Amino acid sequence: MRPSIPDRLDRLAPARSGSPDPAEIGATPARSTRRRDRVYRIVTRVLAVLLLPVAFAAAPRRARHVACQWALAARFPAENLHGLTPQTRAAFEAARTRALWRDGELIGLTDGYRSAARQERLFAEMVRRTGSPQAARLWILPPHQSRHVAGTALDVRPTEGARWLERHGGRYHLYRVYDNEWWHFEYRPEGAPARLSHPGASIPARGRVGEPTGGWVTSGAARHERIGQWSPA
Ligand SMILES: [Zn+2]
Repeated sequence: MRPSIPDRLDRLAPARSGSPDPAEIGATPARSTRRRDRVYRIVTRVLAVLLLPVAFAAAPRRARHVACQWALAARFPAENLHGLTPQTRAAFEAARTRALWRDGELIGLTDGYRSAARQERLFAEMVRRTGSPQAARLWILPPHQSRHVAGTALDVRPTEGARWLERHGGRYHLYRVYDNEWWHFEYRPEGAPARLSHPGASIPARGRVGEPTGGWVTSGAARHERIGQWSPA
């Protein structure tokens, strides 16, 4: 990878509605952001508890699940779970229900399903910014290869939530796939995929399939994360 490309992209990357702010999605959030996230965690958990009686009335056997989804919808109002395959959505909701009730972690969806037309636009934009399809594929895939278009890919936030999902997502067939995208997870019922260095890579970045690497901390500077978040695979 040429170091100049991320630098250029970082300068050019626009704000996108519904995206978290750069401080939140960086690999090392600022202290004020961490404090804010702690407050969000507490408030969202309290809200979930308060919603339990209503959720129980609506769905007695799934009250904790329902209350969790309601509370997270309030915390992440811009998220959109439509278009995900039913299995992917069920896995994601089950995972974040466990994350919230068991460990107090919040997991929000930044980006899930994308139409082929939208993916094509994002890819074309990245080709224009990077100068070639090869360079663009470090960050994003064309529609026929993107699992976002298939409805089985999830970009999540914040970093603590992604960390939780990297540790526990396998239980739900949700796996991190790329070293350079800590937020990108895919539903893979067939089992853990080989970890790749980046979208478009065909050779596993690690010797063992599905090996946790902790790469979300070490995979690069915070600005790399911001770039990918703007236009992930
Ligand atoms: Zn993604």
